[in-house]
Amino acid sequence: MTAREQPKELFIVNFVRMKRDLFISKWAFLLVFMLSASIAHAQRPVCHTSEYTQQMMDQAPGFLQRYQAIEEEVARLMTEREQFRSQDEDIYYIPVVVHIVYNVPAENISDDQVLAQIEVLNEDFRRLNEDASETPSAFADAAADAFIQFQLASIDPDGNTTTGITRTETEITSWNLFAPITAENYAEKVKETATNGKDIWDRDCYLNIWVCDLGNSILGYASPPGTTASKDGVVIGYKWFGRGGSAIPPYNQGRTTTHEVGHWLGLRHIWGDDGGNCSGSDGIADTPNQGGENYDCPSYPLTDDCSPSIPGVMFMNYMDYVDDGCMNMFTQGQVNKMRSVLSGSRGEVLACANLVVIDSQDIEPEVLVMYPNPATDQVFFPVDRINADNTVISLYNSLGQEVIRFNHDGSALASIDVSRLANGTYFIRAFDGIKTMNGKIVVSR
Ligand SMILES: [Zn+2]
Repeated sequence: MTAREQPKELFIVNFVRMKRDLFISKWAFLLVFMLSASIAHAQRPVCHTSEYTQQMMDQAPGFLQRYQAIEEEVARLMTEREQFRSQDEDIYYIPVVVHIVYNVPAENISDDQVLAQIEVLNEDFRRLNEDASETPSAFADAAADAFIQFQLASIDPDGNTTTGITRTETEITSWNLFAPITAENYAEKVKETATNGKDIWDRDCYLNIWVCDLGNSILGYASPPGTTASKDGVVIGYKWFGRGGSAIPPYNQGRTTTHEVGHWLGLRHIWGDDGGNCSGSDGIADTPNQGGENYDCPSYPLTDDCSPSIPGVMFMNYMDYVDDGCMNMFTQGQVNKMRSVLSGSRGEVLACANLVVIDSQDIEPEVLVMYPNPATDQVFFPVDRINADNTVISLYNSLGQEVIRFNHDGSALASIDVSRLANGTYFIRAFDGIKTMNGKIVVSR
């Protein structure tokens, strides 16, 4: 039996028996307790956002003040939203860049693995995940669509077209968040080209996700709102990124990134990071109070000292630590917080959505058939090959500027009024949260 499998209390009792002839002070006992807890953590990878946040509070000038100010702003926005904006269903689009920083070929994960991850994010944040049906009925009413969608960026900070994926070879074999900050492999150095990593793209225009070797004990970590601009983003271990493919069970369903992006949008761990007590909270009203984190795949219902009666704790929430295949929901309260962050301190990233542009050289297989083409006033095109109910249609000019965006009404045939557009070539994207169809139209009179 390993230390992890052995109940903590038993471990301590055995230890005390072994040492019964020795004097053990209260502090030594505490040390043993902490050691057994750290062994438990060392043997399975977990998120380290809380530890990272503490590092920022210790190291980054002004972080604590910004963090607290944003939390206060978000609390105010959440209250407003609960009172007046409960019907807010505007979709927030977040452009994403994935920086793959690799030392060996296995770490240089495929485009397909990245695309699979974006699909997972869109499913989970839109509650289109197949396992949404696994949410226990007692929690189903709390489960919510965040109306947040993610797109790989199509234009880079220099204005060039891009796949939204960068690839950087590095000398660093493994990045370590707990290395001294002067060490070459201190994990934050993955965010800078000069330190063998890859420079951030403007955090006001992109969600930056670095994928690299974080060792075996860290799934990933995220910067909370208020982080220094040059370090703002999410870092994920390459073994746990994307769905299927090269990802390693039980963290192979893309939920590490769902969890970390939740942190990036202001969410805390569902148990409140209070060391197993019932005193701390995640600050969200509709998540049950929970003592500590859960692992593996618990059976429902699961109760603890903080939520002793059924339905117990919400271990299937994305902000717990259960296996990827056992988590399946955000709550409405969590959605309110994420959308409050996006309408507040992270609002810039939405305003830059016009940087997402269709590359005329890269029309995907799903092509919109537009007619008449060239057009003078009204353009028609079938959208029957995607989910027309959830489709957002955008039209970009040749500079990549978004000039029209609207939610499609759900019919199989869409149309756009182009009568007020100048002559020229325009690119059209229809996106249903999972699939994209692209088209090109010429306006000529
Ligand atoms: Zn976490």
